[in-house]
This record gives sequence, structure tokens and C-alpha cells, in this order.
Amino acid sequence: MTATYDYLVVGSGIAGLYAALLAAEHGTVLVLTKGAIDDSNTRWAQGGIAAPLGPDDSPDLHLRDTLAAGAGLVDEAAARVLVEEAATAIQDLVRLGVPFDTVEGEVALAREGGHSLPRVLHAGGDATGAHMEAALAAAVRSAAIPVREHCLATRIVVEGGRAVGLEALHWPTGQHLAWACRFLVLATGGAGRMFRYSTNPPLATGDGIALAYRAGAEVMDMEFVQFHPTALRWPGAPPFLITEAVRGEGAVLLNARGERFLPRYHPQAELAPRDVVVRAMVAEMEAVGADHLLLDLRHLPRERVLARFPQVYRTCLELGLDITRQPVPVSPAAHYTIGGVRTDLWGQSTLPGLYACGECACTGVHGANRLASNSLLESVVFARRLVRRTVEAPAGQFPPSPEAKELAPPQPAEAPALSLQALQALMWERAGIVRDGEGLAAASAVLAAWEAALPPPSDRPSHELANLLTCARLTVAAALLREESRGVHYRRDFPQPREEWRRHIVFRRQRGEG
Ligand SMILES: Cc1cc2nc3c(=O)[nH]c(=O)nc-3n(C[C@H](O)[C@H](O)[C@H](O)COP(=O)(O)OP(=O)(O)OC[C@H]3O[C@@H](n4cnc5c(N)ncnc54)[C@H](O)[C@@H]3O)c2cc1C
Repeated sequence: MTATYDYLVVGSGIAGLYAALLAAEHGTVLVLTKGAIDDSNTRWAQGGIAAPLGPDDSPDLHLRDTLAAGAGLVDEAAARVLVEEAATAIQDLVRLGVPFDTVEGEVALAREGGHSLPRVLHAGGDATGAHMEAALAAAVRSAAIPVREHCLATRIVVEGGRAVGLEALHWPTGQHLAWACRFLVLATGGAGRMFRYSTNPPLATGDGIALAYRAGAEVMDMEFVQFHPTALRWPGAPPFLITEAVRGEGAVLLNARGERFLPRYHPQAELAPRDVVVRAMVAEMEAVGADHLLLDLRHLPRERVLARFPQVYRTCLELGLDITRQPVPVSPAAHYTIGGVRTDLWGQSTLPGLYACGECACTGVHGANRLASNSLLESVVFARRLVRRTVEAPAGQFPPSPEAKELAPPQPAEAPALSLQALQALMWERAGIVRDGEGLAAASAVLAAWEAALPPPSDRPSHELANLLTCARLTVAAALLREESRGVHYRRDFPQPREEWRRHIVFRRQRGEG
């Protein structure tokens, strides 16, 4: 190994950069990231970050909304930490230079689906993530924390049952690298690119989740994938996200007949939880064989739209679509990976020495459905606790779950050729918004056959494909086991929640990598 650091942080989104900044106060830090420093999901976040700061708000109300969205599976202790430490997290982001929008000197708070009152802070209107990423990257640079860009983490080194280092590939040159560390922090984001339609950038390939599973850490709740209702559906354009805050401002969804349909499905209509909106959209599209619906904000004041959603406005205008004059064609797309590396309240995984924060972690705060804008908050709150833990009680252990399962071994069988597009199409069709046992079993067989025939990965695309395949296997296996519908997991063959399934599904490889 080339060098030893106290902290090796993998990923340079909000979770990784924030963890690195705090860790640098306590030891040597190296940040490793597979693209440029600002390549991340974080930079695309639009709506904002939730925190109970309004005059009528409180951590208890925020907790209540988080529990309600999570459909009986939220870890209440983790969610309480989230809401109680939210104000400190925001103060720290302000200290680090995040320019939250204000109105008459007070922080501006927007309303989003599932929140019972305005609670979402934003920056630059709908450019919250870009501002956060820029502020944190600048702070990391001025703290002179070393960042190795274009380095893809490929393997967690485990010795004596403990994560002790990391192997990586500097993919532009093919150079193999390795480091030892006291604390290995995964902040690698989600696996949204498992699906054909996704709001996530191409880097969201679930690398950290797959690496942690292979190393023997537990992975939890992978069946819960949140689909966002309103991604742009425009020929030749990627499914760019149209933030939920647009509906918070009064935009409505229309079906093919030009009718507003959501009031028929839920009393909160456009502001109902995302899973409800998404399934209502699928039903309306299937009824007439359409591939999109319309998001209408023509009735909102033009100046307000331009001030509040400059990024959405500009992006659509570049495609020839003026959202203040024309309704926007939209359809649902995979958006957020609720499951991930199982961690305790301190960001510690079940593999000693390995920590995780941000979207790659599963703290349990989202349960079966994430409340909008809770993920940026979770990233900051738990990155902070993780660093505190390494300083205050570095020898702590998070006991493994007695119920953890292992994936069935790969099975050689007839299957179409594996490619990224084939994997994404399979997952979209068989393990997407509406699932059933037959489709999931068929997907599981194809994924197992693909894994059996997978050559050892050698470059960035092949590593990412192998990682997506592992995440897909975990997602499908869990979705097949969960014979009920709960939160974002909907099975048409088991359309109701079932009390015996008010529990988590956890996977662990019995023998991690040496
Ligand atoms: C379009 C969009 C809008 C969103 N809007 C909101 C919102 O308004 N509010 C909200 O709370 N959430 C929102 N989210 C979700 C939120 O942005 C993410 O959950 C959050 O940014 C995740 O941060 P992170 O640091 O965990 O991961 P990311 O920001 O995804 O960063 C992951 C980092 O890990 C690196 N990486 C990955 N694998 C490897 C590897 N093998 N080796 C080295 N580096 C690696 C990546 O290059 C990247 O730097 C949105 C997401 C999207 C896609």
C-alpha cells in the first residue's frame, strides 16, 4: 500500500466533502472520487434541504411527517436524531458558505410533498445542490485536503474481520492504487442508474453498496427505490428533474384529456407522497397508452417562476419549451436509493472500520419512503455524527443482524447478452414502479445468469456495470421476498401492507473479501 491515512473518504458529494472537512480537524484525510470533484448527485439537487426552522414548526412535527411518509418502517431513533440535529446542520452549512435564499432577512422556506408546512431551505432558487457542492468543494480546497480525482474505488481491503484499506483504479491511465486507513468512509451515493429512466447522473452506479456487500458488511432495504413523479419526457433529452417544489408553488398534473386527476387519488392531490403520485400517474398513462402526462404551471406568475425555478426554466427553454407558456411533458423516473449500507446512529457499518453516510448508507430514517428533501439533511447530520464517533469511541461495534441473508449463488443459464441498457430495461420493466412475483422471479433468473458469466471488471464501465448488477440482484431479491406493498415498494399481487412484513430485509455475504 502506498500510504496510510486516518480517514479515507470515498466520494465528493455533500456527504463525502462534509465528512472530510470535519475529519480533517482530527487526523489525516484523503478524498477519493471517480470523476471531477463536483461530479455528484448533490450538484443536481433542486428543491432543497428540510429543517424544522419555521415559526410554527418543530422537530416533533418534522418527525411526525417523516414517520408518516416512511410507512411503518422508519427507525424512530434515527429519525429523531435527524430532526433534532437539523438546525445545527444548517448552521454549519451557512458557516461553510452555502448561500440559502432569504425573504426580508429571514431564511425562505418552501413547501414540498408530505411536509405539513413550509420547511425546505433552498439556494439560488432551484440550484440548491450546485451551491452546496461549490461551497463545500471550495472549503475542502482552502483546508488543503488532498482530493484524488478520477480514482475509482474497486475493493475494500479486509484483514482480521476489519476494513483496513482500499484499492482503486486511476481509470484514465489504468494505474492501480491502494491505501491503508484507520477509518474508511463510503460516501458514494445511490444506484439510481439501475433503471432505464432515472433522474440521476451516470455516476450513480451503487459502487459503495456493492463494494460493502462484497466485503461482508450488511446492506438493508434495497427493495425501496423512490421514483420521482416529474422527470421531463422530451425527445432526445435526458429525464431532467422538474422539482417537486414546482407543485408546492401550485403547478398541477393533467392527464391526456387535459383533466387534473390527482384529487381523485389522494386528499393532498399534487402534494401527496411521491409513491401515491407516481402510481396514480402510471394508472392514468396506462389507461390511454400514453408515455407521459403534463405538468401545468402556466397559471403561476411568470416572474415568480423565473425567480424560483431559474434552472428548470433555462434547461427547458434550451430545449425549445417555455414552461410559463406550455405545459411540460413529464413521466416518473428512478430517483433515490433508500436502501444501502446498514449503519447505526453513528454511521458505523457492521464491518468494523467501515463507515457510510449519505445516499449509499441506510440509517433507517426514510423507512419505506423518503420524505422530500430529507436526504441532503441526512447526509450532513450523519456525516457529522460519524466523525464524532471516530473521535469519541473509535472501538465501538455495530452488531450484525441475526436475520441477514446471503444472495443465492450466480446460476449459469440462457439469458440475453448483458449490457448497461439491457440491465436498465430489465429493472425498469420487472422491478420498477409496479412489481409482481412472476416478473421479479424472471428478473432474478436473468440477473443470476448475467452474474455467472461476468468477466472480471477491468475498466471504469465494467466495474460500474458489475456494481449495478450486484445492486440489482439485492433489489430484486428483497422485492421478491417482500410479499406486500409498503411505501415505494408496490406489488400488484400483494397490494396491501402486511403486519408480518413490518421489518427490514438485510443481506450479508457470509464470507467477505480478504
Ligand atoms: C436531480 C436530483 C435532484 C435532487 N433533489 C434533492 C433535493 O432537493 N433535496 C434532497 O434532500 N435530495 C435531493 N436529491 C437527492 C440528493 O441529491 C442525494 O441523495 C444526495 O446529494 C446524495 O449525496 P451523497 O454525497 O451521498 O452522494 P453523491 O452526491 O451522489 O456523491 C457521490 C460521490 O461518490 C463518488 N463515487 C461513487 N462511486 C465511487 C467510486 N467507486 N470511487 C470513487 N468515487 C465514487 C461520485 O463520483 C460522487 O462524487 C436529488 C437527487 C437528484 C438526482
